[in-house]
Amino acid sequence: MREYELVAGLETHVELSTKTKIFCGCTTEFGGAPNTHCCPICIGLPGVLPKLNRQVVRYGILAGLATNCKINPVSKMDRKNYVYPDLPKAYQVSQYDKPLCLDGAIELDSGKKIRLTRIHIEEDAGKLVHERGDTFVDYNRGGVPLIEVVTEPDFRSIEEVKEYVEKLQLLMKYIGVSDCKMQEGSLRCDVNISVRPKGSDTFGTRTEIKNMNSFTFMTKALEYEFERQVDLLENGEQVIQETRRYNDATGETESMRSKEDAHDYRYFKEPDLVTIRTSEEEIEELRAMLPELPDQKRARYLEMGINEGDTAALIRSRRAAEFFDEAAKGLKMPKTAAAFIVGQMFSRYSTEEQRDAWEVSITPTQLHELCELVESGKCNRNLAKTAFDKMLDTGKSATEFLSASDLAGISDEQLCEICQKVMNQNSDAVQSYRNGKESVLKALVGAVMRETRGRADASKATGLLIDMLKKE
Ligand code: ADP
Ligand code: MG
Ligand code: ZN
Repeated sequence: MREYELVAGLETHVELSTKTKIFCGCTTEFGGAPNTHCCPICIGLPGVLPKLNRQVVRYGILAGLATNCKINPVSKMDRKNYVYPDLPKAYQVSQYDKPLCLDGAIELDSGKKIRLTRIHIEEDAGKLVHERGDTFVDYNRGGVPLIEVVTEPDFRSIEEVKEYVEKLQLLMKYIGVSDCKMQEGSLRCDVNISVRPKGSDTFGTRTEIKNMNSFTFMTKALEYEFERQVDLLENGEQVIQETRRYNDATGETESMRSKEDAHDYRYFKEPDLVTIRTSEEEIEELRAMLPELPDQKRARYLEMGINEGDTAALIRSRRAAEFFDEAAKGLKMPKTAAAFIVGQMFSRYSTEEQRDAWEVSITPTQLHELCELVESGKCNRNLAKTAFDKMLDTGKSATEFLSASDLAGISDEQLCEICQKVMNQNSDAVQSYRNGKESVLKALVGAVMRETRGRADASKATGLLIDMLKKE
């Protein structure tokens, strides 16, 4: 059997977190009783006129700037005509040949760039609800603003697709244009996939799997579809260009309809809306609003000496990363603050949403003060860890939980005396060490730590013991 390579391109829909819909004043809030977030405009009654919500344009531009796109100074809305019950007007207002943003990229950790063809704005359709053997339609989602982010067919593995979606999701959350909750459908991917023999430089015929809204399903659907297409080719059959859906009950993809071409949609300019013009000043104003982005934070944290694992964990939540930035300001060893956050704060949140919401009882300053106590050697790490847990429970400062003797630490002379005492009490171990059995050192350090009730600096004690053992 020949070896095959996967080729994929993604169209990702991201619901924007504007308060109101794209062409009317209805709320964009998720849920609600069916058809209660609607008005004559968003259910498409005849004779109404849409008015573009400018915040949608601004969010679209922010998304474009965060992904290195060119922003089109002149852009327009078009009607995409098709008939389906979730679309009361029988057309979706979208963008065709003049999208808001063009030619961007998202870089994967490997350094590979996934090219973005375009980002355009459009309205979401309503939702069909299948219940009691009937199909109902809920237009609450109709007219909610979306951006559609389209990539070039640059993906060569399922892992790359997953990493891209995670990065896009994180970026959009950072810049605040969407909450990107896949389970609520505010981020959904259409995955286009084809296969070709390894080494071939032409693309095969693709299928499009619609509306993937979970990483698990997306992986399973891609695995299945890859195998299906390879089997077809191996049996001398052809892949038919079509739209498919993933059925999570069977674990298979199934055909929905043959793929329409752009000309089937009879695109034309939306006559009820004016051309969208964006000035250089507005673009610069928006660029200035961008926060430090996850990749920039990553580079800076690694530079600061934070390890890969803690860095990756910190940047996954903008609030956590900003908490860290505040706490670490002016510390000699910022990695101490990172370790406290990742080790002890993250473990208190069981879901990603809780971590994103980042409700914490202490201030970054309180963590900063604790780290300073550790840095100056006044408080050792074990005591600090225990104190930190209590701080998180109560919202109180470190000094509430560290006694004067905890904070007094142990002077170098005291530590010397204690080491001497421990050596005197353990003459057998001392003898073994001097005979070459270096492993007994651990036991001696342990004895010093016990003697000081954990207040000594273990590495200092180790150094002192080695010196003293070598001397006599
Ligand atoms: P349409 O507008 O009809 O959906 P596009 O040409 O805009 O088609 O492409 C849609 C998506 O399909 C893009 O993300 C693109 O990268 C991807 N794509 C195009 N050709 C292929 C192919 N042969 N294999 C996999 N993906 C493809
Ligand atoms: Mg498409
Ligand atoms: Zn409305």
